Amino acid sequence: MQEWTEAKQYTDPEKMAVAYLVKYYGNQKIEYPINPFKMLKDEGILFSLMDFKKLEGVYVPASSLEDVPLVGINVNRPITRQRFSAAHELCHHFRDSDKQISCPIGAKNSVERFAENFAVALLMPINELRAQVNKRKNSNRTIRGLCTRIRTS
Ligand SMILES: [Zn+2]
Repeated sequence: MQEWTEAKQYTDPEKMAVAYLVKYYGNQKIEYPINPFKMLKDEGILFSLMDFKKLEGVYVPASSLEDVPLVGINVNRPITRQRFSAAHELCHHFRDSDKQISCPIGAKNSVERFAENFAVALLMPINELRAQVNKRKNSNRTIRGLCTRIRTS
């Protein structure tokens, strides 16, 4: 996969997430629920589930051209959280791949917040959400239908 150099220019994680979905899916239809583990794999990143205590995940950049980047995800966390962590580490891959990053549970600094907001926007794309709500405006099953479709829990 070629490098996504524009990723570092985004100041809004939501815009970056939408841009990535456009880049990733191209003209294909977006499939839900989005699979962030497959995205890691498709970007050439090795990921493994690890027995962390205080970390959600880690990102370890490739050390040479022959090397591949690694992502570790806390296996002790619920699968929903693991999905967010996968998307979160994907964000570090695009923006912060010059160094190793550890992501503590509940971290609040700006780099961590950006990655976290990217993950939320990637797994629950706001435009898609809006489009679905508009489409089903007259339906009393709107919310339940959306939850089934986007399956965030
Ligand atoms: Zn992080």
